[in-house]
Amino acid sequence: MKTQDFIQLENRYGARNYNPLDVVLNRGEGIWVWDVDGNRYMDCLAAYSAVNQGHCHPKILNAMVDQARKLTLVSRAFRNDQLGPFYDEICQLTHSHSVLPMNSGAEAVESAIKAVRKWGYEVKGVPDGQAEIIACTNNFHGRTLTIVGFSSEEQYRAGYAPFTPGFKLIPFGDADALGKAITPNTVGFLVEPIQGEGGVIIPPDGYLKAARDLCDRNNVMLILDEIQTGLGRTGKLFAEEHEGIEADLTLVGKALSGGFYPISAVLSNREVLGVFRPGDHGSTFGGNPLACAVARAALKVLVEENLIENAAHVGDYAMKKLRAIDSPHIREVRGRGLMIGIELKPEAGGARRFCEALAQRGVLCKETHENVLRIAPPLTIKKEEIDWAIERIQQVLTGL
Ligand SMILES: *Cc1c(COP(=O)(O)O)cnc(C)c1O
Repeated sequence: MKTQDFIQLENRYGARNYNPLDVVLNRGEGIWVWDVDGNRYMDCLAAYSAVNQGHCHPKILNAMVDQARKLTLVSRAFRNDQLGPFYDEICQLTHSHSVLPMNSGAEAVESAIKAVRKWGYEVKGVPDGQAEIIACTNNFHGRTLTIVGFSSEEQYRAGYAPFTPGFKLIPFGDADALGKAITPNTVGFLVEPIQGEGGVIIPPDGYLKAARDLCDRNNVMLILDEIQTGLGRTGKLFAEEHEGIEADLTLVGKALSGGFYPISAVLSNREVLGVFRPGDHGSTFGGNPLACAVARAALKVLVEENLIENAAHVGDYAMKKLRAIDSPHIREVRGRGLMIGIELKPEAGGARRFCEALAQRGVLCKETHENVLRIAPPLTIKKEEIDWAIERIQQVLTGL
């Protein structure tokens, strides 16, 4: 079959909820992927940061295959020998006290919402049915109905009403607005340390610290959605470390499996998860031995291969070089570690055409929010390799 045949099949049978670039990939290794015609591309999206460890990392692959031969799923009706060690290792690494394992990122967000609401009623003493959660405009926390219900993106909500009540939106990066929005019924503040899908938006210095203080003073749980920013992407294990704070609940997903499998978790260093009793919440696949074995290997690779330090180092280098590009289209280059956004001017005609031109030159990336080119390769990338991509980015930004 040829590229066009694969595309036709997708278009004929698939729901059209995506508009992918027309490359049909069939192989990946490290930062590289190949299409069905044998063309090689540098993957500068890394599956929205799920593939921080690089494609088909051999150590994660071995862990997955070994475990798949032994035991994959028993449900939480029984115990398995991977779950305890996974809890131990992720808690040690992230300085957490407890863990709730789930599958997708959206499920981790949903689980955190359930946990803080229950905590609000049982511990904080909020009157039944009155719990409020504050979130930010321009957020991205996933695609379930409850979550899109508090999105500010019209397209994510259109046609899906009615939505779950109990959420309040405030501008991202505005600590005063948070202070004003908190009421005695507020149980949680849910925020991304850097907005990823929102366009790689970095809040003002001191914002997370101010949010931490406000949450402390008002007995509100700070829930950081680190599903994209976490696990090394920004040059720290968690983006919260850039401001020296600790969330009450931290949400992880994406790179928790290195791209092999959907695995997410709610991490807590407070007693919030203690509100769950048997039967209150669950998941057939959450915490299964295959997922746990994969996650253990994926975390080990992050640490053993110094991927977090590499993200900081190569990220700084890349940002300097990207900022030096003299292009009439660029409005701003911003980022932390290897989470980089190149915002184009509105007159540039949208980031999509640059993504298409980059794909033709062997670099895969994805526009976000119309005008932002996102550069987020696997954290295994070396300086010489990112130079190769930057050269091509420069070509399209100065040539189109
Ligand atoms: C990707 C993402 C999610 C949703 O994860 P899914 O696995 O797609 O459900 C939630 N929050 C953030 C910040 C994300 O980037």
